[in-house]
Amino acid sequence: MATAGKVIKCRAAVAWEPNAPLMMEEIEVAPPQEGEIRIKVVATGVCHTDLYHLFEGKDKRGFPTVLGHEGAGVVESVGPGVTDFKPGDKVIPLFLSQCGECKFCKCPKTNMCDCSWSSNYHDIMSDPTTRFTCRGQPILQFMGTSTFSEYTVINQIAVAKIVDDAPLDRVCLLGCGIATGYGAAVNTAGVTPGSVCAVFGLGAVGLAAVMGCKNAGASRIFAVDINEQKFEKAKVFGATDFLNPKAYDKPISEVLAELTNGGVDFSLECVGNTEVMRTALESCIKGWGVSVLVGWTDVKDFSAKPIQLISGKTWKGSLFGGFKSKDSVPNLVCDYMTGKIKLDEFITHKMSLEQVNDAINLMKTGDCIRCILNISK
Ligand code: NAD
Ligand code: ZN
Repeated sequence: MATAGKVIKCRAAVAWEPNAPLMMEEIEVAPPQEGEIRIKVVATGVCHTDLYHLFEGKDKRGFPTVLGHEGAGVVESVGPGVTDFKPGDKVIPLFLSQCGECKFCKCPKTNMCDCSWSSNYHDIMSDPTTRFTCRGQPILQFMGTSTFSEYTVINQIAVAKIVDDAPLDRVCLLGCGIATGYGAAVNTAGVTPGSVCAVFGLGAVGLAAVMGCKNAGASRIFAVDINEQKFEKAKVFGATDFLNPKAYDKPISEVLAELTNGGVDFSLECVGNTEVMRTALESCIKGWGVSVLVGWTDVKDFSAKPIQLISGKTWKGSLFGGFKSKDSVPNLVCDYMTGKIKLDEFITHKMSLEQVNDAINLMKTGDCIRCILNISK
């Protein structure tokens, strides 16, 4: 490629500061260094975690940055020492790496690779090393990825190679939201055939959790959201019962207990709200109920009555659905191509990178499940 080894100037949406619109800028993207890959981003989803960083997170040091972490693209060039990737390969950037060497990668119980930005920098949500500059300033790479840019540079431990015929404007969703929700149900919760489940929050992550419960053989899936517009989609993914907590004058955990003779077997919190996390735990049945935190928040502590756990419930959390990222994402792409999992049904809007602020507003108002931004051809 004519660009290999050179700095690339390209378009990117820069978040200069929290709580402000992103700005379209020309940025410089340095060539990949040892073990790194430069990727031409083709498409990206907008996830609530992008909005969390921009509007909700308490730590404001993670700026200026290029947001976006749910993308797919094509390898432009590779740095020294990269042998598993070549220009032209289709890839998905991974916000959670899999180095294969650390004690966490070697342990089958977890996907928490020690080499990810999240090990040391979850407060600023980026690794301070970056290959981006703009107007003479370094620009952080959000969650180590930064897909709201035409080009990005990522270490090979955080890139998954996928099949050549994968449609990038759909499989990009497997870079975060859909893998997260789906895996939280099938891996972390370990939903069993015939079980009763409740999913709180019906954005893409929650809907993917519903899909996971359904694929794991759940017999009844309660879809819980304060926005009733989401119920129709939840039905598409397999939800059987629909509850709006605002429509009841008692806690929704009590409503669920009455409807299920004691509580659900599995509950998944896909909102990112500590009160909902508590409610999801309280909605589980004593003895064996399992509740999983999927929503992302680092703003407040949560609380619960110890009896909730003493009575035999389990409270767990899940990052990227418990999937070992590099191994699993290529398989999930194949699961989509063979019809085992849905992706198209999550996509409600398509826009250009220039319209990124409109896409963010749509997420904020709850009018969209996933908006795909087409970044380049
Ligand atoms: P989203 O904004 O599209 O969906 C959130 C849904 O929650 C909306 O439908 C909203 O109406 C609903 N909701 C809000 N308050 C509620 C309440 N009190 N009770 C019930 N429902 C309520 O977001 P998303 O992109 O689907 O992401 C969901 C969460 O998952 C976010 O917190 C995001 O940061 C997190 N996330 C976590 C991981 C991970 O690896 N753990 C990965 C991706 C996203
Ligand atoms: Zn995400």
